[in-house]
Amino acid sequence: MRALTPVDHVYPIMTPHSDKHPETKGASHAPKGLPPKVKIDVNHVILVLSGKGGVGKSTVSVNLAYALAAHGRMVGLLDLDIHGPNIPKMLGIENQRPAVLEKTMEPVHVTGTLAVMSMAFLLPDTSSPVIWRGPMKMAVIQQFLSDVNWGALDYLIVDLPPGTGDEALSIIQLAPNVQGAIIVTTPQDVAVLDAVKAVKFIEKLDLPVIGIIENMSGMVCPHCGDTIDLFGRGGGEKAARELGVPFLGSIPIDPAMVKAGDEGRPYILRHADTPAWKAVDAVMENLVKRVES
Ligand code: ADP
Repeated sequence: MRALTPVDHVYPIMTPHSDKHPETKGASHAPKGLPPKVKIDVNHVILVLSGKGGVGKSTVSVNLAYALAAHGRMVGLLDLDIHGPNIPKMLGIENQRPAVLEKTMEPVHVTGTLAVMSMAFLLPDTSSPVIWRGPMKMAVIQQFLSDVNWGALDYLIVDLPPGTGDEALSIIQLAPNVQGAIIVTTPQDVAVLDAVKAVKFIEKLDLPVIGIIENMSGMVCPHCGDTIDLFGRGGGEKAARELGVPFLGSIPIDPAMVKAGDEGRPYILRHADTPAWKAVDAVMENLVKRVES
């Protein structure tokens, strides 16, 4: 077993013209023309989606995955934001590389119960744009499922790029046990409008919307404890009510969350009992209730 280096690119990423997948042995049969579901041992695949960028989707994915792992679940975190894979940076593992063993890869283990795979691990240079067409993305997503030693997972949290693109369609097609999607929004009207589109996109694909999360929902003043409505509050909850989908909770702004993300230490690891920590924990509990009951 050896570690991947950024330059050697040894892992055989499929091209749109490759007609054979190395691991099709792991895939189940499907009607001709449709790629088969990949066989991986996971109970709940949860997609995390947003209508637009910058609303805290990746921050929510990281903290939710961490919270679930801290509650004894075996968790995989799959960063499919191929054009902006930030999860490794947020977890302080951006310099690590998955070990390669013949045709499989070992995900990067953050704790005993949390393993991560990201496009960032395979790119020689994350500051260069990835310019890929849909079929190529699908090939890579297929490999992220079938060729990674995920082990037995309770949850696979999938951080998708913002919007309604190929990555979401591919993972829905390829992954087993997709329970549905969580939509992250901020409270402002412009963000909520895009979140509504994301909800409708998921519903069109006949998948359940597990719930909306309103992030950056007010800010608790560290001095007086009052809440300041920086971007307003309640837009996500109102949209959930109007669309008839569950609301999983609101997470307030906490400047420490920006710092934690930049420094690569998950926020919930260090800020127990703050309003934002309690909010993330409550969202995680709501998610578990919806998915496991
Ligand atoms: P997205 O994945 O939607 O593009 P990110 O997760 O990258 O968004 O978050 C964008 C920025 O907002 C990051 O700097 C992150 O640390 C910050 N952020 C996210 N949620 C919060 C929050 N609740 N409080 C403070 N900062 C936040």
